[in-house]
Amino acid sequence: MIKIGIPRALFYFRYGEFWQHFFRNLGYEIVVSPSTNKQILEQGLKYVSSEICLPVKIICGHIEVLKNQVDAIFLPRFVELNHGLYTCPKMIGIVDIAQIQVGNACEILSPKIKDNFMLAHFQTGLKLTGNPIKVIKALNRAIPYLSHHKKLSNSEDHKQRILLLSHFYNLWDDFIGKDIINSFQSCGFDIATKEDLPDKVLKSDKGFAKNIRWVYERELYNAFQYYSDKVAGICNIISFGCGPDSLIGEIMSKQANEYKTPFLQLIIDEHTSKTGINTRIEAFSEIINRNYQSKPYLTK
Ligand code: SF4
Repeated sequence: MIKIGIPRALFYFRYGEFWQHFFRNLGYEIVVSPSTNKQILEQGLKYVSSEICLPVKIICGHIEVLKNQVDAIFLPRFVELNHGLYTCPKMIGIVDIAQIQVGNACEILSPKIKDNFMLAHFQTGLKLTGNPIKVIKALNRAIPYLSHHKKLSNSEDHKQRILLLSHFYNLWDDFIGKDIINSFQSCGFDIATKEDLPDKVLKSDKGFAKNIRWVYERELYNAFQYYSDKVAGICNIISFGCGPDSLIGEIMSKQANEYKTPFLQLIIDEHTSKTGINTRIEAFSEIINRNYQSKPYLTK
């Protein structure tokens, strides 16, 4: 049986469930790489320069893990989503890096997604099976898993709520997100994420959001706008070396300052330590507590 590998990184954290069901429905064996760990990251560091952002380094490590275990790796080239909104150049270029990285070890299945999400998957299925009816059935059975966005469960004991803003591929990769989430929770905060919001809010093009042409940055900005007067503080996780994150992060930081909402910019890379994260979050928690004295209405 043909084995298809799916790297547990980047887009996996939004489309992974859908992909697994789609390919299994087509009759293929799926191999998902293990959760990110230090060894996987170190493998990835060999293939990209140090200026590249952490999630791209991580996905290169996952490709390395898979390349000798599978016949093909599924890695779509995401270019455009939601009618005219784009992903970042590194997301588009990761397929080229992967092709060089795997050489002849396996094939890279990389349909181009240019506002044609379902069509691109249909064409991939057709290329593999040659059977359009089977592909349509497999897609229909996988579609319910497209809306499976991960959410955090919070303790009822926490009094204050903060917004943890981050791309899904950072927050839900335990290697990156877990320590940050744990640190906020142990400081006594309830955590809101953008995944708690409906698509209608995240995709809105009202106000300044219409100027943002990066699909996932627009989601972050809309979540920021929605929550800015509803939470006691906002923490924005950004990847070192990420142009879109630093630009939108700066805009949000200025606006948070105007709204008098405490705002923490947490820059992550492969050298980020758990101790460093805890120290910054504890200091931020102090700021929130002081600010909170003047805004008791923010109790959740
Ligand atoms: S948006 Fe930023 S963090 Fe995400 S892949 Fe692009 S450069 Fe990396």
